Parts: sequence; structure tokens; C-alpha cells
Amino acid sequence: MNSPAPDTRLPETWAQGSGRLLIDLDAVASNYRILRDKMAGKACGACVKADGYGLGMDKIAPVLAREGCVDFFVSFLEGGIRLRAMLPDARHKIHILTGLAGGKPADFIEHGLVPVLNCRKTIDDWLEYGANTNTSAPANIHMDTGMLRLGLTPSEITAITTEPDVLKRLNLDMIISHLACADEADNPKNREQRDWFAKVYASFGASRASLANSSGIFLGPDYHFDMARPGAALYGINPTPNAPSPVRQVVRLQGKILQVRSVDSPQTVGYGATYRFSEPGRIATLGVGYADGFLRSLSDNATAFIGDTPVPIIGRVSMDMIAIDISHIEDHLCTPGKAVDLIGPHNDVDALAHEAGTIGYEILTSLGGRYQRTYLGGNGSKR
Ligand SMILES: *Cc1c(COP(=O)(O)O)cnc(C)c1O
Repeated sequence: MNSPAPDTRLPETWAQGSGRLLIDLDAVASNYRILRDKMAGKACGACVKADGYGLGMDKIAPVLAREGCVDFFVSFLEGGIRLRAMLPDARHKIHILTGLAGGKPADFIEHGLVPVLNCRKTIDDWLEYGANTNTSAPANIHMDTGMLRLGLTPSEITAITTEPDVLKRLNLDMIISHLACADEADNPKNREQRDWFAKVYASFGASRASLANSSGIFLGPDYHFDMARPGAALYGINPTPNAPSPVRQVVRLQGKILQVRSVDSPQTVGYGATYRFSEPGRIATLGVGYADGFLRSLSDNATAFIGDTPVPIIGRVSMDMIAIDISHIEDHLCTPGKAVDLIGPHNDVDALAHEAGTIGYEILTSLGGRYQRTYLGGNGSKR
């Protein structure tokens, strides 16, 4: 049996009973460089919405800025205000994807944020504010090409692109659109959205155009336009789900063994008695549960690792605890206090997401607040 491969950068133990989360900032930096290189001379922004996909925007954004990232995207005004405090240099542009839906023009001006204007009404509001204050701050427009989530509708696009006097009054930084199926390289919707975008964006007269998210970058140069807006791939989610991941893992999640017990006679484990031991065996209880975002759909349905050896999660995920079957593990490798990988070198975030019936995005953004968080690297070292 293999013995555990310790990460020499980590202390072997930690004090709390709950789990620990290791976030590798050097991997984030390296992933940014991979994506930027893939953009081959075009710009690469970064999507840091939802607190940097749950990993901590305050730690992630400065690392990306140091790598040369200039354009940052968040969903809401509040996130943009927090990010502006971290990146006070006006050279860093902070784009708010929901635009004026959650704030007034004056809020954007005050904090130096660029709204993504998503409908004709907010374009008019932005222009009216500019006229009243005699300013013309930069804004973006999102033209919807098939998500039907945010962005100008086809009729709004047709209308505004035939109103040169309106467009002339806008100080347009960027036209963006968003792909619905970029992670399915063969989906014909990608080409439809791309072709529509390519045909129309120039008539807005913006300085730049941006279509690709992480997966969109890997659809090829046709999808690159002037800038990409990756999120997921920066955080270690595979942007090419049917091929080996081009990016590095960022997250390692470990549970701690709280208690070890033997099962001598046929017995069941956990709520609902869903898992039955029919032969003698051994169980370890870990201090991680669905309250930590370790999804209940992983009940009886996920694999953790002790070192290089898989250990199945057995029974239902409780609020604060899970059980693993350690019958096949040597005693000295699974004593109370030892670490068990829930996301690690052998079970990456995409693998856990697959077991949970979801996507890596949801796993990351669900990671709870109780974990002891340790950030590795990212201390200003440059390639
Ligand atoms: C979330 C988001 C992105 C980033 O997408 P990933 O798949 O995480 O790379 C880019 N653009 C928009 C509009 C988004 O909402």
C-alpha cells in the first residue's frame, strides 16, 4: 500500500476539528499565464465574481494584477467597490456585469467602475447622467447573442446601431457578449453566437470586443476578438471537459479524522442507515459536512484519498460530518488528527463535482466559511 504523499509546504496537522482549505496562488498565476498565452497577443481579463469563485477575491485579484491583468469583472456594484479598494490604481479597470441594475451612475463614477449596460433604459440613464454632469465616463454594452440572460435584445441592437447620435455620446470601452455552450466545442450554437457577434459589434464603435469565457478561449482564435474574460480556468476548473485539463489545480480540501471505530457485526452507517457493513470493517469520521458546502448529493457517492489510496465516503453526508471506509488502510495512516483529501491530487474539483452531479463552479462557490484557509505562494514572485 502506498504511503501518503505529504505536501511539504503544509503543516501535517491543524488545530480545528473542521476541515482546511489550501489555495495555491502560484497555480492561479500560472493558470492566468496559460490563458494569456493562449490568447496570443490579445488581452486576457479575469472574472473574479462571487468573491473570486469562492476562493477570496482579496487574495486572488492582487496576484492577477501582478501578472499584468488589467480588466477585472464582477457581477455586482458592491463587489466592484470592494475590488476598487484592493486595486486603487485607475489603470486597473473594474467592469460590473449587472450594470446599472444594482446602482446609480454616480456610484460608478465615485468608485471608478465601468458598468456593463444591458438594456436600452440603462443606456439612456447613463447618457442622461453624463449630460447632467457634463461627464462622459467609459461604459460597456452587452449585446445578447443567445443567453437570454442579460444584454440588449436583437431589436434593441438593431435600433441603437442605427442611431449614430446616441452612440457618439457614449464613451464605449467594450462590447461584450457571452457564450451559452462554450464548454461543448461541437455545439453549433457557439458558431452562431460568434458569427452574429462578429457581424454586429463593430457598428457600436467601441474600442474593444470581448466574447470568450474560459472555455471560449479554447474554441480558437475566431472567438478571441480583443479580450477574453476567463473565470473558471483561473481557479483550476477544466475549460475543456472532454480533454485533459490545460490548467493546474488550485484548491486542496482536507478533512480531519475525528474518530476511528471498528465494525464487528453487520451494521449501518449514518442517517437513514443507507450504508451497510456486511463484513467487519473500520470507519473514520471527518469533520466536514454539507454546512461546509460538501454537498449532500455526495452521500454514498464520493471518493476521498488518504495519501494515494482511495477511501469511499459511506452513508449520508451530515451537516458537520462524513464517514469514510478505511477497512483497507493500515492503522497508523488513519489515526485521529490525520488529513484526508476531499479535493486533492487524485480527486480534483471537477471529479468531485461529477460525483455530486454538479459543476466545479458550484463546488468552489459553495466552499464554506469554517475551513481554515491557507494561501500558498503568490508572494510577489514573478516568472
Ligand atoms: C462568469 C462569466 C464569465 C467567466 O466565465 P467562466 O466560464 O468562469 O470562464 C465571463 N463572462 C460573463 C458575462 C460571465 O458571467
